[in-house]
Amino acid sequence: MAIINNLKKINSDIERVAESCGRDPKSISLLAVSKTKPIEMLLEAYKGGQRIFGENRVQEGEAKRPLLPADAKLHMIGHLQSNKVSKACHYFDCIQSVDSLKIARKINNKCSELDKVMDIFIDINISGESSKTGYCLGVDIIDEIKEISSMDNLNLLGLMAIGPNTGDRDLIKRKFKELRNFMILINKQTSLNLTELSIGMSGDYKEAIEAGSTMIRVGSSIFGTRG
Ligand SMILES: *Cc1c(COP(=O)(O)O)cnc(C)c1O
Repeated sequence: MAIINNLKKINSDIERVAESCGRDPKSISLLAVSKTKPIEMLLEAYKGGQRIFGENRVQEGEAKRPLLPADAKLHMIGHLQSNKVSKACHYFDCIQSVDSLKIARKINNKCSELDKVMDIFIDINISGESSKTGYCLGVDIIDEIKEISSMDNLNLLGLMAIGPNTGDRDLIKRKFKELRNFMILINKQTSLNLTELSIGMSGDYKEAIEAGSTMIRVGSSIFGTRG
């Protein structure tokens, strides 16, 4: 029951925060981050209406995918190693953590073999924290993003980022807005029409929605803290 109540609370937060800043709540989706959590908890969330789940390890996605109902979607949100690309392409519906041309090429080649088009996001490091993966935000990466977007078996939807690790709410919101402005700049400088911003976790999804998030990735506020 706790999981279903947590989902209700977050979905009502999405509505409330979206309306408070003049956004359509339906333009924001909720990804339930189920890493380290047993399948029973995902199925409980599914019963509560949740359909998109996120994992940060390929092996965990591989184990859980066959146990999830067919209409549940699984997103890869953790750094992807080259030797795991093949499995990731099999078991995930979207890879949000594309952080190099090399990994994009590998996903594209594998999906070509599988006759599949993979939804992807580009992982951007907006905090400057070296512990985080992703491209450093800057105009110099636009050409590479354009090249990735041109690959036949990839469908580039937008950008993904993790907020800075700080209690400074204004700084968090400012960094999220920088990412949104960067997406607008990419669209202006290229013929791309990126629309998705995967930003906001348990601790900062309100700031993310205010800054333009279209997908929040929430783990501990749904499933409880991880051990
Ligand atoms: C773990 C994780 C989340 C969810 O974090 P919570 O603080 O538990 O909501 C979101 N995004 C990524 C990339 C993660 O690794």
